[in-house]
Amino acid sequence: MTRAYNFSAGPAALPEPVLRQAQQELLEWGSARASVMEISHRGAAFMAMAAEAEQDLRDLLAIPANYRVLFMQGGATQHFAQIPMNLARQEQSADYVISGAWGEKARAEAAPHVRARICASSAAGGFRDVPATADWKLDPQAAYVHYTTNETIHGVQFHAIPDVGEVPLVADMSSDILSAPIDVSRFGIIYAGAQKNIGASGLVILIVREDLLERHPRPIARIFRYAEHAKADSLFNTPNTFGWYLSALVFKWLKGEGGLAAIEARNRRKAELLYTLIDESGFYSNPVSADSRSRMNVPFFLPNAALDSLFLQEADAANLVGLKGHRVLGGMRASIYNATSLQAVEVLADFMRDFARRHG
Ligand SMILES: *Cc1c(COP(=O)(O)O)cnc(C)c1O
Repeated sequence: MTRAYNFSAGPAALPEPVLRQAQQELLEWGSARASVMEISHRGAAFMAMAAEAEQDLRDLLAIPANYRVLFMQGGATQHFAQIPMNLARQEQSADYVISGAWGEKARAEAAPHVRARICASSAAGGFRDVPATADWKLDPQAAYVHYTTNETIHGVQFHAIPDVGEVPLVADMSSDILSAPIDVSRFGIIYAGAQKNIGASGLVILIVREDLLERHPRPIARIFRYAEHAKADSLFNTPNTFGWYLSALVFKWLKGEGGLAAIEARNRRKAELLYTLIDESGFYSNPVSADSRSRMNVPFFLPNAALDSLFLQEADAANLVGLKGHRVLGGMRASIYNATSLQAVEVLADFMRDFARRHG
């Protein structure tokens, strides 16, 4: 059996050279005579690797000097709650932009910790686009504005950074971080779970503007306080050492691929290939308006849901896996993160065209 073309939404495909390197050095990492999983996170070897990973990420995203990078745990979901704990007083309000299911979850988890206000939402239209920034009802007194740059389930993505004035902009970039260059200086906090575009689950990366670490709006345990983790260079307690190491390999791989401008060009071609096929097929459909379509997650529907299981069965036989849509939406979803090659997308497109011809 060969490795399949993998379109899983998350945990998602990793670059094959990264997996091969991890496999090769699984038992003996560098000169440690042990696995990277079996050594102290406070030893010189691990700390050097950790520092280099951070530097590579800084290079890739051109992170300004006044931002700290944290390698943390808990998934993006834990940080839905931890962000208000760090940025707001209980009675303060924060503005939430809702463009899909993850934005809704972020607000729900924040609600016990801050007055989480919806300042814009595209729920009424069924999340078929991002809410037009002109219609956002922003509160200049809000502790922060939170939005989801790419809605992984609905396949809705912001293609420009919204202007929210002086209020810190907080972005959940779990499913599109590192997919294209981005101006980090526009954000207060960027955070992302690793299992879509960075590495393995169990690691969350936060990029935090330094002055926000000085906010101490409420007494919380040190383990929840971003400032403590920054002070300890993310070694406040034992980090996810293997996840950190895997992310380091992915950052090196990204640099070797030519960095984020090159990755973006490839991601655009991959997405264009699928959306063009879907739109021209007269068979498949995607409901998202053209300017809000995600370049990472492409949900699509067959003309008749009765064909869904046959599609998945034939796709599997053609070595294409991970295409079943999210249970909320049904249908199909092709996730085409950085590690998914153009060739994999071409193979999927050929299969989809053939399936449409036979069943259209
Ligand atoms: C996957 C995902 C999450 C949740 O990540 P967990 O690690 O399961 O907490 C949050 N936001 C977005 C945009 C996601 O894609």
